[in-house]
Amino acid sequence: MPPLILLTNDDGYLSPGLHALRRVLAELGEVWVLAPEKNWSAASRTRVFHKPLRVYSAQLPDGAVVHVTNGSPSDCVLLAVLGLAPRRPDLVVAGINAGANLGRDVTYSGTVSAAMEGAQAGIPSLAVSLDVSGEPEETPDYERAARVALKLAEKILSRDLLVPHGVCLNVNIPRGVPKGLRITRLGGKIWSEELVRGKDPRGRDFFWFSGEMLSTPPEGEEDTDIWALLSGYVSVTPLHLDLTAYETLEALRPLEELHL
Ligand code: MN
Repeated sequence: MPPLILLTNDDGYLSPGLHALRRVLAELGEVWVLAPEKNWSAASRTRVFHKPLRVYSAQLPDGAVVHVTNGSPSDCVLLAVLGLAPRRPDLVVAGINAGANLGRDVTYSGTVSAAMEGAQAGIPSLAVSLDVSGEPEETPDYERAARVALKLAEKILSRDLLVPHGVCLNVNIPRGVPKGLRITRLGGKIWSEELVRGKDPRGRDFFWFSGEMLSTPPEGEEDTDIWALLSGYVSVTPLHLDLTAYETLEALRPLEELHL
């Protein structure tokens, strides 16, 4: 039986990043795609509980038939793992996201959340994101990025690389030819926050979040994902879902003496 790779994303099933991964990962085994029907970028670990989930088949521009749902990226992984996939996946891959997922912003990411869902189910999982400029004339090289993901997937499936239970790998790929690969920790903020205000054509106020992405590698943070990506390296960060601030547990302990 060939390994089963569950492929999903948060940009929706029509995203070219998903299509490139599907084609390239097919070299390693059976790729089973279940992706959202719409763009869920920045949906975090959203779950759809308030309406029925639907799953249907759709044909991609390259002729491939994939599974599509009205659920979120996390729902895709759980639907597959809880019975829709032909068997238990050996690997979960989410991406390729159009845009990096770095530093403090990873908790917003639907791509990273899908990989976390896989990790929580005890399956080795990768979140794969490509740095893009967002300019309309840009054609991101998803094929090259997919080849990077392929190399990591190969290591995991051959058990050359053991990812501990509950840990997923957050992979960010720079534009152009990578200088190499760095194992990193999460950096700080890569986006500045700005609130744009305006008036819509009916004279009502609107608000739009905007901001600028950091453009130079932050000095003194050479071990972070942000530094690695902005310096032209592929960044691989191991993530887990345990958000406990362990270093604060003891400082809070006196609260246990409170008379309630
Ligand atoms: Mn996205």
